[in-house]
Amino acid sequence: MQLFTALDAAAALRPDRPLLVTDPEHFPTDRYLADAVARRRDLRVRRVPPADLPRFLTAEGHRVAVVSYAPVDFRTGELYDIGALTRAVHDAGAHALWDLCHAAGALPLDVDALGVDLAVGCGYKFLSGGPGTPAFLYVAHRHHAALETPLPGWTGHADPFALAREYTPAPGIARARIGTPPILSLLALEAALTAFDGVDLDQVRAKSLSLTGFFLRCADELLSPLGFTSVTPADPGRRGSQVTLRHPHARGLVAALADRGVIADMRAPDLLRFGVNALYTSHRDLLTAALHLRDLTRTAAYDPTPPATGPVT
Ligand SMILES: *Cc1c(COP(=O)(O)O)cnc(C)c1O
Repeated sequence: MQLFTALDAAAALRPDRPLLVTDPEHFPTDRYLADAVARRRDLRVRRVPPADLPRFLTAEGHRVAVVSYAPVDFRTGELYDIGALTRAVHDAGAHALWDLCHAAGALPLDVDALGVDLAVGCGYKFLSGGPGTPAFLYVAHRHHAALETPLPGWTGHADPFALAREYTPAPGIARARIGTPPILSLLALEAALTAFDGVDLDQVRAKSLSLTGFFLRCADELLSPLGFTSVTPADPGRRGSQVTLRHPHARGLVAALADRGVIADMRAPDLLRFGVNALYTSHRDLLTAALHLRDLTRTAAYDPTPPATGPVT
């Protein structure tokens, strides 16, 4: 809902331009909604890898209404330069929408200072709000007055309890509200966020980089002789808070790891993804995961051809 609102509202901010630009490898919902909003708003979708975006904008930027990207690639963990890309988007006169699902709570990101136009993110990844926790929407203050949201509801009305027949948007971001909020999930999220009270996100980032750097070393020393390769950049400036390894038996290995209490996830066909939350993951946890993986592979103690569908997706 937040992503649909953000994409549609971003498109409405530049109705004079025909292109919506997004990452061909974006998360599925982001891809589907880009198509849905493009149909609704009569835009054309261009799929441009983040590394090619500045070049694309130099050539076609004058036709671009909105670009929609994530700072961290959810498969590989690669981190993009959100500030530089946002500047390139603005130089083209377009607006930048960032999906912060894999960044919020993992990296210090000052979206106001970076000039981000709109952003969304979920509360259940690095923010630890638990399944079903509400997502969030950010809109830069300079866009509030012109903000047109596609889902007007009574709680976004300027005077909600007047229950008026006609919609008058509330001033500012409050117009993005739709209906009664999920109070129990919000309470869980609120409790989870207290873990960040008094925490310096630069320190969270430093620990995260230490953890992912350590796991990359474990992978190099313990797992590369067994056919694993890392697809996450070794350069700390270019990685988020996850490490992704490639192995042809990723699915069976992730399932076998889960049986040993190590929860990773699998991205078809051959990626094993290890998310690292610096608030509670330890170096020891990561060494344990690497040792289990080495042991499973050495002893072939996993199913190399499990069914293509199942509990691990
Ligand atoms: C996890 C994720 C989503 C999905 O969020 P839901 O709350 O499950 O809809 C969307 N975008 C990105 C980039 C994600 O990583």
